[in-house]
Amino acid sequence: MKTPELLIRLRERYFAFALRVVDLIVRFKRTTEKMFLSWEKWVKPEGHIALEKLVSRFPRYLTPPSGSVRCGPGWYPLVWDLCTAIEAMEHLAMPRIGHFKAEERLGGLFVRIGSRSSIVQELAKDIEHKATAICSECGAPGSLQLGHGFAKTLCPAHGKKRKPQKAKPAPLSAELAAGEPLLLFLDTEFTDFDYPQLISIALVSESGESFYAELANGWSPEVCSAFVTAHVLPQLTGGDFFQERSYARRRLAEWITSLAVPVRVVCDAPGFDWVLMVDLLHDAFPKNLYPAPIHYYSESFPGLFELLQKAHAEAYDEFPPHHALHDAEALREAWEVMKEHLHPAILKQYLKL
Ligand SMILES: [Zn+2]
Repeated sequence: MKTPELLIRLRERYFAFALRVVDLIVRFKRTTEKMFLSWEKWVKPEGHIALEKLVSRFPRYLTPPSGSVRCGPGWYPLVWDLCTAIEAMEHLAMPRIGHFKAEERLGGLFVRIGSRSSIVQELAKDIEHKATAICSECGAPGSLQLGHGFAKTLCPAHGKKRKPQKAKPAPLSAELAAGEPLLLFLDTEFTDFDYPQLISIALVSESGESFYAELANGWSPEVCSAFVTAHVLPQLTGGDFFQERSYARRRLAEWITSLAVPVRVVCDAPGFDWVLMVDLLHDAFPKNLYPAPIHYYSESFPGLFELLQKAHAEAYDEFPPHHALHDAEALREAWEVMKEHLHPAILKQYLKL
């Protein structure tokens, strides 16, 4: 056996052994807790754990800003176990840990702990690994579910609940699909690219009508990327536009329906804008809305590229970018320029996509 290989094996053995020892300590701790501690608060509850309970049991690790738990409740027991293990090791003279973050990202659990201990890092990896097979909502056995906009680790029951109609909106009736649809230019602002959560949404129709809403729930400033914090949040309009998700959903569905003709969405990042809009509409998907958007990107017209970029830039003369309504309007301006310069046959082909 070559030396590096031997070292790797030894390292693996060492970690396996260390994890077993930690596991023993945790079990011992738990037994003594149950035997000697009549104070309920310290004992890990069976089944569902409330976030407040988790944080109040391990306040030094989990209290913001140095500590945070941003994942589904199904994973709280894993976090509880990890904290118990860290606590046990600190009792055995390990230096105290610094920050502690457990977050849900792209359907997986990500744990970051400020500690030089390789055992702590190994334990963190261990719960990340366990989380891939546990429903983040309820703790039952689960797997990664895709296809309803976002990745999430869910059990079959929760997977089913998250999926209804979202992936496949009802197809247009033949009657509605017969005519040329009215185009709606869509733009959204969202928290970050890893785990996008809708902040604001705007639609501008070819005929000039518009819809705009900012969401009061479903996201928080703490989960926004640095870019969004610097360029998007300061521009939010607020006031009457600031609405509960359920209210914004109803308003959006009503607005689209009230256009009373078949409508189709145009956007430049359907993977985000369209997915977030369908997610907002949820089970209120309007009957006159095409089930798929048109993906507009100026790069698909090399001959027009410069012209379109210019039109897009000019639209921002009055208002700065990164406000969903201004961006949707800028998209419409660019589309108008494209329409003027494109052969009608090519345009028709494009609209069929
Ligand atoms: Zn579940």
